[in-house]
Amino acid sequence: MFEKLNSRGLLEYTISTQSDLHIGGHTTIEPAEVDNPVIKNVQGLPIIPGSSLKGVLRSEIERLLRGLNVDICDIFDNKSRGGCNECPVCQLFGGKDVASSIRIKDGIATKSKTLIRDGIAINRKKRKTQDKSKFEIEVVPQGTIFKGMITIENVGFGESDFSKLGALLSLVDFFNACNGNIGHAASRGYGQVLVEINKINIITAKNYLDGNYEGSPYEKETVRYNELKSSAISEWTEYVQGWCK
Ligand SMILES: [Zn+2]
Repeated sequence: MFEKLNSRGLLEYTISTQSDLHIGGHTTIEPAEVDNPVIKNVQGLPIIPGSSLKGVLRSEIERLLRGLNVDICDIFDNKSRGGCNECPVCQLFGGKDVASSIRIKDGIATKSKTLIRDGIAINRKKRKTQDKSKFEIEVVPQGTIFKGMITIENVGFGESDFSKLGALLSLVDFFNACNGNIGHAASRGYGQVLVEINKINIITAKNYLDGNYEGSPYEKETVRYNELKSSAISEWTEYVQGWCK
């Protein structure tokens, strides 16, 4: 893991669904009542696995940095299978032998409501003759809110900067601006989401020593939050420029 912890960032996020969402998976509770259930936790609440969100953000930043001619690795390349450990993407999201700086906990829905949709459009007349259950798909309806937490181990690449935080915050903005999709069947209009970071806590090693485990809180839509965000993003931009060919 990390040999030295200078600071930790705790980010409370919400994901609100702008369309129906389907992220499938095995439910840990009773046998599924539908053929294509959404993934749920033990309380029966739908979840967005942290790994799904992380995967989406990782591939987004890979494309962005390639577009800026930053030399990042290809994790599917035999030479660096699993990541080169060194490029900015590996530094943030983990490589073969380097731990991920960013950890994302599952987003948990605030309500258990789901709907059953037909997996394909079925003609009303034909419907009777078809085994319709075959095409049923469970979805989380539009307007559902998921809540979760993101942790950043060492919010900067150096001792006192916030560039890793800046990377994440700008990435979330970019993801939203480009109509972020998550889960399956995006082609059918499923899976449009809005990701928001509502609160950031920065806890330094010194805070820990002082018994201040909450660190410094930054609430969204405050001057403090906006100042932190813009300086973090400019530190990230500067860092990335150092990597541009
Ligand atoms: Zn790499």
